Amino acid sequence: MDLLEYQGKQLFARHGLAVSQGKAVTTVEDAVDAAGKVGYPVVVKAQVLIGGRGKAGGVKLADDESQVREHAANILGMDIRGHIVRTLWIEHASDIASEYYASVLLDRSAKQPLVMFSVEGGVDIEEVAEKTPEKLVRHHVDSLKGLSREEAVQIATEGKADADVVEGVADALTALYDVWTQEDATLAEINPLIVTPDREVKALDAKVSLDGNALYRHPENASLSDSENEDPIERRAKEQGVQYVKLDGDIGILGNGAGLVMSTLDVVAQAGGAPANFLDAGGGSDAEKIKQAVELILANDSVKAVLFNIFGGITRCDEVAKGLIAAFAEIRPSVPFVVRLDGTNDEAGRTLLAEAALPNVHPARTMNEAAEMVVALAAGSGVAS
Ligand code: GDP
Ligand code: MN
Repeated sequence: MDLLEYQGKQLFARHGLAVSQGKAVTTVEDAVDAAGKVGYPVVVKAQVLIGGRGKAGGVKLADDESQVREHAANILGMDIRGHIVRTLWIEHASDIASEYYASVLLDRSAKQPLVMFSVEGGVDIEEVAEKTPEKLVRHHVDSLKGLSREEAVQIATEGKADADVVEGVADALTALYDVWTQEDATLAEINPLIVTPDREVKALDAKVSLDGNALYRHPENASLSDSENEDPIERRAKEQGVQYVKLDGDIGILGNGAGLVMSTLDVVAQAGGAPANFLDAGGGSDAEKIKQAVELILANDSVKAVLFNIFGGITRCDEVAKGLIAAFAEIRPSVPFVVRLDGTNDEAGRTLLAEAALPNVHPARTMNEAAEMVVALAAGSGVAS
């Protein structure tokens, strides 16, 4: 769950990280009103779930009411690489002496939290990492011990933060690490982390992603979910209690069990296809559930073919087949389906499917065979079955 800048800053403030005072608004009049309250000069900032807003013209300084009016009118409704601006954040403008960078994320390959810091902030950090990697400090943290004061000071020093703000940067890193752990974030990034002329260290931007699966531990954060900017199919899936993630390809995927679905995505990619989604139907074989899942998959217009990959364990394949047959009788899907049934009672399941002779449904035996079939069907070349 990605947060807008101002929502991320709310979490920062809760953990003692310095941020500027501001207000979120959705109209030009409210922007003017907010600017008067936070005090001029202000900065008018597009709130969208994508970076590089400054370069796109979505971040503007304003010295007076007429400038706020002009910038707010220009930025509201702006399309920043496919993200339409509906909300503005108006904050009191800061004077900047230096722009640093700080982030905390999970390094999956090291299986540890990773704290990163650089004095080359305000710019694209990937570029810093690529061209001048020595200017990006990367520090792994023992997650049981947490980030100690000594480590935070060491990171700031190693990164060559100005000597008089090493303590301030260490405070910011510690607070950012607290945000990451205590809020169950998957990413907490500040770019730029600024040093003001009077040597205050402050977060000028915020990029925070929260782990949606941990949200039940943070009822106070539920309201941060930005349903207006969320993918409509993902929102529907969430309401139905289904694990669905939209992807960029054209092959719909459904499996039972998150692990099986993940490997199905891999096998389809290996066969040269591009998955359109992740969908874990979980256990059970209920026709109603299968129908809902199929409807979710087909709500994505890009889907040209669908792969059902079911491994029968406690859930028996013949029961799944019955669910499928009942569901398909109602839905009559317009795109081809490949159904692979394996595991408990798979023979019986395949026989049931064959007998039902559903139009547009192709049974497959192995995962590889199923993947190749669905890739061919999506490409429009059909299969011999
Ligand atoms: P991004 O482009 O989406 O990363 O948006 P940021 O919030 O990082 O803003 C982009 C840039 O605008 C920053 O790197 C700053 O250089 C500038 N900026 C943002 N807020 C202020 C401010 O309060 N004062 C000044 N002087 N510049 C600002
Ligand atoms: Mn930024």
